[in-house]
Amino acid sequence: MRKGALLIISAPSGAGKTTICRKLLARRKDLRYSTSCTTRAPRPGEKDGKAYFFLSREEFKRKIRRGEFLEWALVHDEYYGTPLRFVEDQLARGLNVVMAIDVQGALAIRRKHPAAILTFVLPPSLDALKSRLARRREAQESVAKRLANSRGELAAAKDYDYVVVNDDLARAVSQISCILTAESLRASRLDPSHPVAALA
Ligand code: 5GP
Repeated sequence: MRKGALLIISAPSGAGKTTICRKLLARRKDLRYSTSCTTRAPRPGEKDGKAYFFLSREEFKRKIRRGEFLEWALVHDEYYGTPLRFVEDQLARGLNVVMAIDVQGALAIRRKHPAAILTFVLPPSLDALKSRLARRREAQESVAKRLANSRGELAAAKDYDYVVVNDDLARAVSQISCILTAESLRASRLDPSHPVAALA
């Protein structure tokens, strides 16, 4: 059995990565979503265990001490982390895992999993990003902080393996799905128990 691939999607807040992940999951049976833990407050409609596992700062720090995260980072002054166990279990079962995490997290995961596929989603324009953020029901201060952070995040796109522009949602989803398919067919991922692998 092939080991699953890790697909990491990063994008500035408001570029549409949550919707992209939802659509990708709907069309790929071989893909699982890694739900992160966070200390930020839930937004209206966000359910615990679905969008995120919402934890207190104490609970989050306890998990850090116990080594329960594949990576964690402080983003916009809140903690965010990827649960280690879930990801490793899915990969071992041959399933692919997608996660929507920030640039620090993506680079930390690449150090541990060099074959992770780093995909950056760009908004069609900075103006589009601003208006999407402004539509969210969040404090103005938080929106301003997110916009300021976006500049640094955008600069990191060049260190990623792939860059997808989300000016057409269906196309962006299909492009990312193609990336995952091509990457999972890499010769280096060939199942060692496959008869052809023995010829190498
Ligand atoms: P939001 O609060 O808008 O849902 O997410 C804020 C930022 O945190 C986004 O860039 C998101 O991708 C990132 N993020 C979400 N989960 C994780 C995680 O587990 N680890 C890291 N490093 N970043 C995360």
